[in-house]
Amino acid sequence: MPITPLMPVYPRCGVRPVRGEGVWLIGEKGERYLDFASGIAVNLLGHGHPHLTKAIQDQAATLMHVSNLYGSPQGEAFAQRLVDATFADTVFFTNSGAEAVECAIKTARRYHFANGNPERHTLITFDTAFHGRTIGTISATNQAKLRDGFEPLLPGFKYANFNDLEGALALIDDNSAGFLVEPIQGEGGIRPATQEFLQGLRKACDERGLLLVLDEVQSGVARTGKLYAHEHYGIVPDIMATAKGIGGGFPLGACLATEEAAKGMVIGTHGSTYGGNPLAMAAGMAVFDVIEEPGFLENVERMGDRLRQSLEQLIPNHDHLFDSVRGKGLMLGLKLKSDSRRFVAHARDNHGLLLVAAGENVVRVLPPLNIEEGDVATFIEKLSDAARVYVPASDD
Ligand SMILES: *Cc1c(COP(=O)(O)O)cnc(C)c1O
Repeated sequence: MPITPLMPVYPRCGVRPVRGEGVWLIGEKGERYLDFASGIAVNLLGHGHPHLTKAIQDQAATLMHVSNLYGSPQGEAFAQRLVDATFADTVFFTNSGAEAVECAIKTARRYHFANGNPERHTLITFDTAFHGRTIGTISATNQAKLRDGFEPLLPGFKYANFNDLEGALALIDDNSAGFLVEPIQGEGGIRPATQEFLQGLRKACDERGLLLVLDEVQSGVARTGKLYAHEHYGIVPDIMATAKGIGGGFPLGACLATEEAAKGMVIGTHGSTYGGNPLAMAAGMAVFDVIEEPGFLENVERMGDRLRQSLEQLIPNHDHLFDSVRGKGLMLGLKLKSDSRRFVAHARDNHGLLLVAAGENVVRVLPPLNIEEGDVATFIEKLSDAARVYVPASDD
């Protein structure tokens, strides 16, 4: 077989979407899927949201792209909005999550360089972390499946166990720049950091002049019922990567930082051709118009609670299959007692329900954030139908 025109790096399934309507995806033959995957936590307003669609259409017709050589009224406006809403004083816009994390890594190294400590270049990261697919971001995880065959990787990372504060602190040495961590691991299996862990990392940073770098690419932008997940923990980062939901489906990411942490990022130190172009800024602004409406975050919290309760009620009826529920808001994980990939395929192919598998046999439940009670009910109906007829593989 010759190689396919699309580089064959994804195990693509039989769903071939051509259209979306709110929480529904429609395939080539008109088949309908309930989309509780949301393009992996991206389509936070569902598909075809009128305000987002119109903002992109209008901006595309007005001005799509200019170089970062020019002034950016659109970028200034959206950066100001992020600064007003978060811990940050300054923002660099990117086109993806991995680029946002790259910028965060560079900002952290450059901070210590600017302070006259270039030897403080190593970030401590965590097992089952996922930070993206660039050489830099695969170097920032110890997961073999992401790294194999791409060596030599970048030096400047050390790996501790997630939620093991003692272990992380024990890795601090004269070369440490700080910690890079997801407050709730996404790909790793919806594993929330404990309060003690994140607060302990923050404290160690404050005491030892280190930087706390958060990867909120998946957990951010209202997904957990707060604008950013770290708000649940009563701490703030020094640097943070955000992406996925921030453009509502338009490719957009950002690296946010305090003024102090960004002190090394002076003219000429970083750049991106597309990053923060007017079209992307219009998408981000439109997403924020909606998520900053009164009651939006409350709806995420309410729907999250409802979904979680419904899932918990379902467990005893299918206790050969379902183990437990974890996560926050609408970033939920249903832990299975057998292979989650196989169950996700079954729910998709036989029940028209889209979910995402993650590490530790977890099924990720990541619906659009503007879902309503009826959507939760439809979801639970489909999921329990799928569970009722499911036969786990004999070797599971
Ligand atoms: C998806 C993800 C990334 C990478 O984002 P891309 O847009 O695919 O580059 C990084 N970190 C986390 C936590 C993610 O979930």
